[in-house]
Amino acid sequence: MSAADCFVAVEQTFASMAKQSARNFPVIREALGHADALYGFKSGFDRESLALGLKSGGYWPNNAQKGLTNHQSTVFLFDADTGRCRAIVGGNLLTALRTAAASAVSIKHLARPDSKVLGIVGAGHQSTFQLRAALEQRPFEKVLAWNKTPEKLERLASVAREKGLPFQSVSLEQLCGEADVVITITSSFSPVIAEGLIRPGTHLACMGTDTKGKQEVAPEIVAGSTVFTDEVVQSTSIGEAQHAFRLGMIDAAAIIPIGVVVNGDHPGRRSAEEITLFDGTGVGLQDLAVASAAVDLALARGTAIEVDA
Ligand code: NAD
Repeated sequence: MSAADCFVAVEQTFASMAKQSARNFPVIREALGHADALYGFKSGFDRESLALGLKSGGYWPNNAQKGLTNHQSTVFLFDADTGRCRAIVGGNLLTALRTAAASAVSIKHLARPDSKVLGIVGAGHQSTFQLRAALEQRPFEKVLAWNKTPEKLERLASVAREKGLPFQSVSLEQLCGEADVVITITSSFSPVIAEGLIRPGTHLACMGTDTKGKQEVAPEIVAGSTVFTDEVVQSTSIGEAQHAFRLGMIDAAAIIPIGVVVNGDHPGRRSAEEITLFDGTGVGLQDLAVASAAVDLALARGTAIEVDA
């Protein structure tokens, strides 16, 4: 699966959700009380593509010590006509790619066309995927990055080098002061970007907050932006907007599903001064879309393993 294949699948899914053709089912996420793990299911159905299934997995914080990724997941796809299991697809790489595709879709539709400087906040596993996908959307001329532990920034620097772009490790003040597009991809539980730091005209993609309690930016930034999201219910409950929503600083009705912009039913950015904020919470339908595309690709290439059920 290439990042470009994922981009198409995710963009179409957001469009399908906005047309009410696709629906995410309620998310289940539980603390296991074992290995400090969080485990759950994300599921849904897209009547247009007939993608039906679930992603099962979660977060095992001690995995890194075992040489494994902390996020682990598997996607199960079912035949929408019969309910039979159609495929089982490893979800780790696909989750990284679909999350990167979501912020890339937001940049395509919401960032200023003349955006030149890209800022990345966070340098964990997910960060290089976000960087690579973002670089496809605008002719960025420079990459700025910040991480709590700066030594981890080398992984982002190497992607910038590979793409022939200048890279700088900077303070959050400098990053927000220069970047036209800012992507946050941390697992923080308190605002990393303080009130007043984000400049007018910025497109901010908040991608790290996918759980109740997590937070990457001050609620004033959310309240002062035009907020777009993958799914409004998730945005106000587990997404970046949860805090501004709880504090009564933003109405759910003011949050715009990005799919309506993809469909052409909303203009997206309205001026060069507007701050647009994409609250990427991560929906099950994204997983099903990229897993279905991967299965189609594997069948076409003869690399899928067929099992007689
Ligand atoms: P990771 O554990 O590899 O990296 C975490 C990053 O967050 C590191 O850069 C770390 O320095 C930073 N961080 C942690 N606490 C911080 C704090 N208090 N202040 C500032 N920075 C802090 O995780 P990852 O795989 O890169 O994922 C990053 C985040 O994205 C996680 O919260 C994850 O749950 C989330 N995520 C969201 C989606 C989605 O669809 N929205 C999908 C995948 C992952």
